[in-house]
Amino acid sequence: ASRFEGVSMAPPDPILGVSEAFRADKCDLKLNLGVGAYRTEELQPYVLNVVKKAENLMLQRGENKEYLPIEGLAAFNKVTAELLLGADNPAIHEGRVATVQGLSGTGSLRLAAALIERYFPGAKVLISSPTWGNHKNIFNDARVPWSEYRYYDPKTVGLDFDGMISDIKGAPEGSFILLHGCAHNPTGIDPTPGQWEKIADVIQEKNHIPFFDVAYQGFASGSLDEDASSVRLFVARGMEVLVAQSYSKNLGLYSERIGAMNVVCSSSDVAVRVKSQLKRIARPMYSNPPIHGAKIVANVVGDPTLFNEWKEEMELMAGRIKTVRQKLFDSLSAKDKSGKDWSFILKQIGMFSFTGLNKAQSDNMTDKWHVYMTKDGRISLAGLSLAKCEYLADAIIDSYH
Ligand code: PMP
Repeated sequence: ASRFEGVSMAPPDPILGVSEAFRADKCDLKLNLGVGAYRTEELQPYVLNVVKKAENLMLQRGENKEYLPIEGLAAFNKVTAELLLGADNPAIHEGRVATVQGLSGTGSLRLAAALIERYFPGAKVLISSPTWGNHKNIFNDARVPWSEYRYYDPKTVGLDFDGMISDIKGAPEGSFILLHGCAHNPTGIDPTPGQWEKIADVIQEKNHIPFFDVAYQGFASGSLDEDASSVRLFVARGMEVLVAQSYSKNLGLYSERIGAMNVVCSSSDVAVRVKSQLKRIARPMYSNPPIHGAKIVANVVGDPTLFNEWKEEMELMAGRIKTVRQKLFDSLSAKDKSGKDWSFILKQIGMFSFTGLNKAQSDNMTDKWHVYMTKDGRISLAGLSLAKCEYLADAIIDSYH
């Protein structure tokens, strides 16, 4: 008998499990719209040219594989905070930003969750309903209590702004409010600049702490600066803010696990202490982060020529997704004879589209049409080509009606 007899079978992951099922499907028509990973029009993975150039530079320089400090690569930490807040941000010049390199977005969120558990016992994190599925896992494992605020309105397939504001107002004073910096996952629906101001108002009124998850900087508008404007607005108000960053999507560094946790503090003195505690949390978890992705980001963001080339590639990727979004909308509108208004697809932004398909309908997409997607009705347009839009539209219309 095994000593592990009592270990039960874990359920497959709702997002990464979709890719496993996709790989097992033998049908030629199959489409993987589950995970948010960018593909070319030929549906192949894409390594950015600037990443290849940065890696070549690294090879030429013959850099070593010594351990990084616990907080990560200094050159990376510097440029990542600048990319997020703007190089001229007073918070940076005043030394008020505690930045540590993290294991991409997920690992950075996990560090912050541990900090909250340790220093804000009992404080709740409010997450949007719906949100990226892993948020709940992260806070559960860190033993941080969470609850949801209204976000998505199925009636309009848009933002339930009043519900959101009222739930943030209703949360116990001093709660952490988890916000998607841009390109909300899974809905693709972001607040307008005016709505962000109002969100900041209630957070300030209630003494809450804003906690941004920025996994798609550049993928919402195509502009890195514009996509950081929500975070910058809160920082400009002098608020203390937590921000997790990921380079999985915007630099295509998924498997390099490169990101950062930034805590914007009210003084440099506090920032130094916060950083020391983040390091203390990281040390027994993974000791120190990997170097390769950090060097790539430092080389790309820190070099004006490569940085400009990255912006162009970023616009190219964001542009391809916009074209696919338009084509999907056109195909749906032309084929669907029911009179349904599909314009919500055009209003959504980023890598994803929330189709409004329920679980049974999403099952039909997969079982009958070999379209793999998460069961909440989310499809990743980054995994769709122009050539497959008509087929996808047929599948969606069949599944809806
Ligand atoms: N936050 C959100 C909202 C995401 O969608 C993702 C990626 N799917 C992440 C964080 C983190 O991903 P990673 O750990 O690969 O950076």
